[in-house]
Amino acid sequence: MGTSDGQVLGPTKIVDAGPPEKRWNIVIVSEGYRSDELTQFAVDAQQFADALLAAAPFDRLRPAINIYRIDVTSKESGAKDPKKCGGTGAKPRTYFDASFCTNKIRRLLVAKNSRVLKVVDKHVPQWHVAFLSVNSPISGGSGGSVATFSKAPGSVEIAIHEMGHSAFGLADEYEYYSNCAESGHNKHSGSEPSQPNITTNKNRATTKWRSMIQAATPVPTTKNADCAHCDPQPSPVAVGTIGLFEGADYYHCNVYRPEFDCRMRNLHKPFCGVCQQVIVKKLTPFLP
Ligand SMILES: [Zn+2]
Repeated sequence: MGTSDGQVLGPTKIVDAGPPEKRWNIVIVSEGYRSDELTQFAVDAQQFADALLAAAPFDRLRPAINIYRIDVTSKESGAKDPKKCGGTGAKPRTYFDASFCTNKIRRLLVAKNSRVLKVVDKHVPQWHVAFLSVNSPISGGSGGSVATFSKAPGSVEIAIHEMGHSAFGLADEYEYYSNCAESGHNKHSGSEPSQPNITTNKNRATTKWRSMIQAATPVPTTKNADCAHCDPQPSPVAVGTIGLFEGADYYHCNVYRPEFDCRMRNLHKPFCGVCQQVIVKKLTPFLP
């Protein structure tokens, strides 16, 4: 188990915007790729880089961003997939010991993050965000200090969403925890959350993103008529309208999000204007 099950070969800069001391540096590390699969990792890492740099606002922040991959081999392919979660029971010998079924949730794919960060620290000491690309077709991933993703369809979208949490401190903008009919998630407590993209303040003059709300936009922009459930209504305003939409942060009512949709709410949508502004503000100092 562990580091005797593979070898760290080293970093390759795959997107070069300048010296790492001056740029925002993303690192993608391989897990569960045998040495004869590293050419596939190079393809996977490049695909991830391309998808990230195509997503607004990263598309226009490109001159601020370096991306590195670090090639690490494993003796065997994939990740552990315990039977207790309905998995195959596979236990491949991999460098970072990635496993599905963390906390008995199959899609929760977690590796030894401290081991990943040790490798990243050594090879790209100026890193800002670390991703672990796990060579498995099973759907899964996790956030935290290392955003981990598999090769299942949609996993890149999940990884970018997780980066919204880990690198930019964004909250989830969806309004349920496990499902829309759950109890215990009807109404938010009302105290103002610290994250920049959710608020309980529905006063147009003082709410967090007030400068981005146009005078003609109603506030609140949507109200949930039944706090026992998620709000089923479609957006009453044009796509891209910033206002106060009820339902976010795992609660059906009493908490608001800035746009009807956002990548922090729906993996297949772009980041909303408020989330984009947070990202731009953080990365602007790294522009040439
Ligand atoms: Zn957002």
